[in-house]
Amino acid sequence: MSANEHAPIKPKITPIYQTSVFTFADLNELELYFDQPGQHYMYSRFGNPNSDELAAEVNKLEKGDGAVVTSSGMSAILTAVLTFCQAGDHMLCAEEIYGGSATLLNQELQRLGITVTFVPTEHTYNLASYVQENTKAILAETFSNPLLTVLDIARLAALCQQHQIKLIIDNTFASPVITRPLDLGADLVMHSVTKYLAGHSDVTAGVIVAKGEEAAKRIKQIVMYYGLNLSPFDSWLATRGLKTLRLRIKQHSANAQEIAIFLSQHPKVRRVYYPGLADHPQHELAQQQGKGLFGGMLSFQISDELEKVNAFMQALPHIPFAPSLAGVTTSISHPLRTSHRSFSPEKQEKLGITLGLIRLSVGVEEAEDLIQELDTALAAI
Ligand SMILES: *Cc1c(COP(=O)(O)O)cnc(C)c1O
Repeated sequence: MSANEHAPIKPKITPIYQTSVFTFADLNELELYFDQPGQHYMYSRFGNPNSDELAAEVNKLEKGDGAVVTSSGMSAILTAVLTFCQAGDHMLCAEEIYGGSATLLNQELQRLGITVTFVPTEHTYNLASYVQENTKAILAETFSNPLLTVLDIARLAALCQQHQIKLIIDNTFASPVITRPLDLGADLVMHSVTKYLAGHSDVTAGVIVAKGEEAAKRIKQIVMYYGLNLSPFDSWLATRGLKTLRLRIKQHSANAQEIAIFLSQHPKVRRVYYPGLADHPQHELAQQQGKGLFGGMLSFQISDELEKVNAFMQALPHIPFAPSLAGVTTSISHPLRTSHRSFSPEKQEKLGITLGLIRLSVGVEEAEDLIQELDTALAAI
């Protein structure tokens, strides 16, 4: 007896459909698949209930017209670019973008005939000076990494509309709990689900959410044809993580705010980058755009001496050095030697990425415990 012949089993949550293919009783049932898209399944690369559930949940949070999940944040970026660009087209990209995204555009997509110009975020508002005849899209992030520059999405979206170019927002650092780019005029929003949406450092995944039926259809085609789909199990894990997104973001934000204040008053800390601090250059914009939540990411500058940086890291027994972010457990990263390693020394300096720059991904532990640990580690240098 196969599972679907049992008396109704009614699980409270969606089980894992760990299958590569689905079966049909006859040709009539096959036709239902083509007639009622989204209600029947054929082949997991085309669609799977777990992947569709995750996509639907993120679509709801981002208020989109359709979403699709992918094998990673990188395949989400690729999908987003291919939605609007083909060989011969030109793209603009915020200079402070995630290193992997910059490499994808600069090296790989360049080979396929899509050219790119990098523009500092604050200059993107001078869009007219950068737009070429074949410019189709611009990619930017809500909060930049690692210095947390905040993008004025509504302002950039209005300019994009004037020039008829599409705005793609990487909303990974903010999450839809803090900012919903589509509401502010963006055309496509994507995430590395690996980070806050899944939130537990146990899944690699991505998602793209589209505005408009046409783009919503196109993102699904690209994922299917290029085979960028996410596995059922990873979709299920990310769906489970997503259920606590709102709770986690509130706690990440509250903790980060307290830690940012602590660090900004510490004599061994030269500078703190956190949008929730009143002296952050885009504090008001972040306040308005983020509904009072500023997220869990912050960076700060300590001594630029190698031994001191190492001593600081070694003095953090419960805060691992891990080159990723957004897990429930606090971690630190080192932009110069990880994400921004391949940048030229001139560009590193221009962006303010120095040896003493520490990025902190604040978890959901007790803020008091985290502050105590940081205080002890700062005392050690
Ligand atoms: C991690 C990250 C990516 C890439 O995502 P993966 O899941 O690692 O492929 C893209 N953008 C941002 C902002 C990220 O932090």
